[in-house]
Amino acid sequence: MAAVDLQAVLDGIAATLAPRAAAGAGKVADYIPALARVPAAHFGIALCTRDGTQAAAGDAHQPFSIQSISKLFTLTLAMQTLEDGEIWQRIGREPSGNPFNSLVQLESERGVPRNPFINAGAIAVADRLVTHGDAKRRLLELLSGLCGETIAFDEEVAASEAATGYRNIALANFMKSFQRIDNPVEAALDMYFHQCSVAMSCAQVARAAGYLCRDGLHPLDDSSQVVTERQARRLNALMLTCGTYDAAGEFAYRIGLPCKSGVGGGIVAVVPDTLSLCVWSPGLDHSGNSALGMEALELFVGATGLSVF
Ligand code: GLN
Repeated sequence: MAAVDLQAVLDGIAATLAPRAAAGAGKVADYIPALARVPAAHFGIALCTRDGTQAAAGDAHQPFSIQSISKLFTLTLAMQTLEDGEIWQRIGREPSGNPFNSLVQLESERGVPRNPFINAGAIAVADRLVTHGDAKRRLLELLSGLCGETIAFDEEVAASEAATGYRNIALANFMKSFQRIDNPVEAALDMYFHQCSVAMSCAQVARAAGYLCRDGLHPLDDSSQVVTERQARRLNALMLTCGTYDAAGEFAYRIGLPCKSGVGGGIVAVVPDTLSLCVWSPGLDHSGNSALGMEALELFVGATGLSVF
């Protein structure tokens, strides 16, 4: 890997894909106005190596709505705060094979979501965090600490998520009907809608996820662990199997890295022991993953040979 010029790899990927983004690849999420008005033409990519070297190309420093990428960080927060049993008693660890906002499996599985990275699972994690108090502040503190920069919610996005979140409201109520949600559904959803609204750039997300390529070690502080080495391995395993919803098999086949996507068009990926990277292009494919983001990761793995397989 030492022989690979990572900056040149990112420049090459941006040169190939930015014109395609400009031509309009995929479909920008339009369920809320704040996402619908983001131009499809954006393309950014950034990485941070295990030893802190950074590289970036395209719109890597422009903040975007991280949406479901936040599910990775709320699960991290839950792992920091809660006993294993408290998390996994009510949340599974299997790929769902269904869209991220699907309700179907919740009925047969009696209100237990398949995994923490689909909406139902993330709402269940949010509920646990609310029980332990100050969840929104603690998430922003975690993210700001990981980036070394202040990270904030986009209140306009959070309010729109709440105003249009019919399916998420249904998921929360459905789980509540099986006594799987401890707090009022409004409280769990308020946390969930806010976490979806966090705005970060590719460079910030790549840096923040650094602990996943450093055996749990803080990206900016060698003397502190964000999570244990075992928890970092488990987060990577969940990203690989569940991080991109019903496309997780296709991602493993074409890319072979733990990834977590969001409908804002961001995807974070981890090469364990080596680097973390983030790509952003708002046009989505039919699974709700960034269409060019997936291609960018495929090009990256092809150019560097970096994969867990
Ligand atoms: N806010 C979106 C939702 O709850 C997040 C989903 C996603 O990014 N996949 O539907």
